[in-house]
Amino acid sequence: MDPHRRLVERLVRMGIIKTEKVRRSAERVRRDLFVPKKYRKMAYEDIPLPIGEDQTISAPHMVFMMNELLDLEVGQLVLEVGSGSGYHAATIAEIVAPSDVPVSSWGTVITVEINPRLATLAYNNLRVAGYSSRVHVVNYDGSSGLPLRDKVDRILVTAAAPEVPPPLIDLLKEEGRIVIPVGSPGFWGQDLLLVERSGGRVLKRKVTEVAFVPLRGKYGWS
Ligand code: SAH
Repeated sequence: MDPHRRLVERLVRMGIIKTEKVRRSAERVRRDLFVPKKYRKMAYEDIPLPIGEDQTISAPHMVFMMNELLDLEVGQLVLEVGSGSGYHAATIAEIVAPSDVPVSSWGTVITVEINPRLATLAYNNLRVAGYSSRVHVVNYDGSSGLPLRDKVDRILVTAAAPEVPPPLIDLLKEEGRIVIPVGSPGFWGQDLLLVERSGGRVLKRKVTEVAFVPLRGKYGWS
């Protein structure tokens, strides 16, 4: 079996990948197109890899666990804070805007990256992998939200924040969800939170412990 399929099968057996849509997105997006050339051979190992600028592409199990928690559907508007390589945004686009449904039902992914060099990296990787019309990369401080006309259905943060940034809660639609690591900037003592907005209330639930690079910017770590 090729290493890509073997990885997906293993994550299904481990119970990380639970739904058909997350499985299909895992099968369709080639992670080897998003990792630096020198790490291509390791693209289908379940580990984070360096992408330059002291940042990493998350391990596949973390990407798919977060996508299951997000409860993604075709047509949704999703905001990602922390584009990095662009890989995670592509896996989300494969669910909210899959290539086998009409373009008129497609949702959109907006991914925000604070580091201009990484914003360019994400843009180029997404173009090569065929996602440039479904994912928009913006060079911006995502901890302070984004000036958008519409509120968003889902928000994913892929760097650890001191707390859930209030501007992200303001951007969220009623019945929307945020998946975000919250805790120390030093890779330890971080909780992955599922935040739900329901009936005017904001509910937060700890899912598990995680290790992410720190979120920078106005509502991040200085
Ligand atoms: N999701 C990425 C991995 C992200 S690593 C992938 O699939 O490859 C975390 C990223 O968050 C880094 O690229 C870092 O530069 C970015 N980041 C940190 N603080 C940010 C902020 N306030 N706004 C936007 N991006 C931020």
